[in-house]
Amino acid sequence: MDRAPTSSGARRLRPEIVILVLLILAVAAAWVSVYRAGSRTLTVTFFNVGQGDSALIQAPSGRTLLIDGGGEGHDYSGSSDVGERVIVPGMMVRGVKRLNGIVVTHGDDDHVNGLDRVVDQVPVEMVLDPLLPHPAAPYERLRALEEEHGIPLFKARLGQQFNFGKGIKAMVLHPGLVPIWGTAADANNNSVVLRLVYGKVSFLFTGDVETEGETSLCAAPCSRFPTTARTPRRRPTSFARCGPSWR
Ligand SMILES: [Zn+2]
Repeated sequence: MDRAPTSSGARRLRPEIVILVLLILAVAAAWVSVYRAGSRTLTVTFFNVGQGDSALIQAPSGRTLLIDGGGEGHDYSGSSDVGERVIVPGMMVRGVKRLNGIVVTHGDDDHVNGLDRVVDQVPVEMVLDPLLPHPAAPYERLRALEEEHGIPLFKARLGQQFNFGKGIKAMVLHPGLVPIWGTAADANNNSVVLRLVYGKVSFLFTGDVETEGETSLCAAPCSRFPTTARTPRRRPTSFARCGPSWR
């Protein structure tokens, strides 16, 4: 007689337990789904820096790469401002508190401005730069800060590669082993051009490369035209000249 209520109680509780277990499993499944979806997501953020380009790559592996600063202004105050107002806060919002690397495509102010503040406020593992002479105050200050913080500096050349894990890679397509000299804009023409590839999706980051640089770039091995291209802003249609070899 004593067992009957217990047995009856157990029968009454069983559906609740089943529902609870199902709920737990459903929640667990949802979290796994979110995790799996998140683990496959490559994020490329283009910061609104006005003049120039600044892009943040966040790979599913957690690896991060910042390409360029930006913003108007040719003095040091302008340099810090865009980093303080846009780039560093933008990184923090996205949970990026350290960088595996910064790519400085070239030394012009509108691609360097703001990076001084990034280097000052965020740990940076390495910097890739064409490392060509560029006598401009923001660039020289950035180089000094990199040295002050002990950040390893590498010379960007064709063939180098960033491995973001999970099959995601960024390849340096330009400049070539021998830089281009004697053009009207050597700094632009020797810009680092980077191709980020993730499966069938790719991005092309071109700095300010111009005609002479494009001629060299178009000869680089590359099987497909990029899905998203940051084309040179001065002549945005010029990459059409690359022809079929890019498709
Ligand atoms: Zn430039």
